[in-house]
Amino acid sequence: MANGRFAPSPTGDLHVGNLRTALIAWLCARSTGGHFVLRFEDLDRVTSRPEHQIGQLRDLLVLGLDFDGEPLVQSTRFDAHHEAIDALATAGHTYECFCTRREIAEAVRAPNGPMESPGYPGTCRTLTDHQRADHHAAGRRPALRLRGHGTTIVNDLFRGRVELPVDDVVIRRNDGVPAYNLAVVVDDAYQNVEEVVRADDLLSSAAPQARIAELLGISPVSYVHIPLVVSPSGERLSKRDGAVTLADLRAVGVTPAQVRKMLNRSIGMNERAGSEHFDLVAIPPGPWVFTAAEL
Ligand code: GLU
Repeated sequence: MANGRFAPSPTGDLHVGNLRTALIAWLCARSTGGHFVLRFEDLDRVTSRPEHQIGQLRDLLVLGLDFDGEPLVQSTRFDAHHEAIDALATAGHTYECFCTRREIAEAVRAPNGPMESPGYPGTCRTLTDHQRADHHAAGRRPALRLRGHGTTIVNDLFRGRVELPVDDVVIRRNDGVPAYNLAVVVDDAYQNVEEVVRADDLLSSAAPQARIAELLGISPVSYVHIPLVVSPSGERLSKRDGAVTLADLRAVGVTPAQVRKMLNRSIGMNERAGSEHFDLVAIPPGPWVFTAAEL
């Protein structure tokens, strides 16, 4: 049995890619008799909207995905997030980072910059007290980063064992708001989540998240990273790709029941099969290309 969750950011309607991930997450939990909870990750107060929470919940329910308990709204959990941030800082696992996005991009591009670009280049990792004081005096507000180091093994039930670098991710943004990589770990533990199922664009985040959990004394979760859904041109699916949400599809005559059948087919399940017939191994290993022909 594995308790699972779906944790969308309420920034718009869910598209078929998000819905497919939600379906797989729901099947992973329900096919084993696990609980399944919903969490709205609304840390970005500018783009998140309560009406999107309502719309996302409605679409999930229409597709037949149900949840245990009330959805958790992440922004109600700031006290718990700050407590965890303070614990990590007190134990010496963090450092202040004054870099702007632009400075990070420049450091990564520099001739002697790090070879592996995706991570933080480490600019503020070794600042002296004096340098930090100068930044504060200049009015620069620091973010707080995890002092990540080395690599960690992520046991992914879909992809197998993957060794990934533990990046120095931001755990508190420079406006004081808890950051995604911290909040996700604290809230998964709070909601008793045991298995995290999500799209594989977040695979590299699993390493710092697993490290944060370990440092906070939180039991590790297992991971299932599912290939993204892409448009026929191979790009990650987005609103530009036409009818991609339940509302868009309904407007062109496609019912939610047809969408659910299509999603079942896309993960190697019989259209009408129940959750007991779900098998992770039947999901194709590559990205799923969504075209109108799928319907
Ligand atoms: N809120 C994230 C998103 O919508 C997902 C976080 C997660 O599943 O860990 O992309």
